[in-house]
Amino acid sequence: MSLEARGAVVTGGGRGIGAAVARSLAEAGASVVVCARTEREIEVIADELSSAGKRAWAVPCDVTDPKSVRAMAEAALKRLESVDILVNSAGMAFSAPVHKMTLQDWNRLLAVNATGTFLCTQALLPGMVERKWGRVINIASVAAKSGAKYISGYAASKHAVLGFTRSVAEEVAASGITVNAVCPGYVDTEMTRESLERIVASTGLSYEEALAAILDTTPQKRLITPEEVAAAVVWLCGDSAGGVNGQPIVMDGGGLRA
Ligand code: NDP
Repeated sequence: MSLEARGAVVTGGGRGIGAAVARSLAEAGASVVVCARTEREIEVIADELSSAGKRAWAVPCDVTDPKSVRAMAEAALKRLESVDILVNSAGMAFSAPVHKMTLQDWNRLLAVNATGTFLCTQALLPGMVERKWGRVINIASVAAKSGAKYISGYAASKHAVLGFTRSVAEEVAASGITVNAVCPGYVDTEMTRESLERIVASTGLSYEEALAAILDTTPQKRLITPEEVAAAVVWLCGDSAGGVNGQPIVMDGGGLRA
């Protein structure tokens, strides 16, 4: 798979899935702009890639802030010349029974996961339309297609991401652009480790017991790796996946089969 001559922006690229996506896109030949709020983390990833002879830059961005997204889009365009690929991986998790979720919790989830995806897509899509080639890949979740207790806000925000994905996919289908979502189950990242710590704090289970309880809900009894998610993203970026549009690519070992 060669993505030489493609410019890519990866939000949430400082760690976890976004960092794995940035590495895999660079490995496939793309030039990559790595975005998140924590400059130290995005610089580590961009430096790692640059040291390995790849073309990569760190550009700080808060995806919930329209001004910050506009500035990021301008900076990305300067470095990449064209942004052909956008991976929206910036996201946050939150769990609480619905009666304990505050309006602030709800608004924050929607702002980061859904509005962030909208703002970055809106900022970078016009250039793709102009050049008649583009890939937008939103890292949603199995929670974009299902619900579960204590994740009503997170699931609502990810359902929004999938509805957005499906709708924009149809808008740009005739412009050489595809818009898809990758929907993983539990992935081995900081986000999952933080969720496990919350379970430990609220139940008194040990970390190992909490992990075993989570794994027990997964068909393959394992966490998905960030590299598996990144491989799906790279595949979606290729010309051979050009007919895949508006799809949720579920990656959870077979839990969700609809
Ligand atoms: P991590 O917590 O490891 O990383 C999240 C990334 O998003 C960080 O780089 C963080 O950087 C960035 N981010 C968070 N808020 C903002 C913001 N306002 N503006 C810009 N960047 C932001 O999470 P994962 O890598 O695990 O998750 C990535 C995506 O995958 C998320 O959308 C998540 O919902 C989804 N997902 C994760 C699963 C999992 O089990 N881990 C399962 C299914 C989906 P910073 O804080 O510095 O801004």
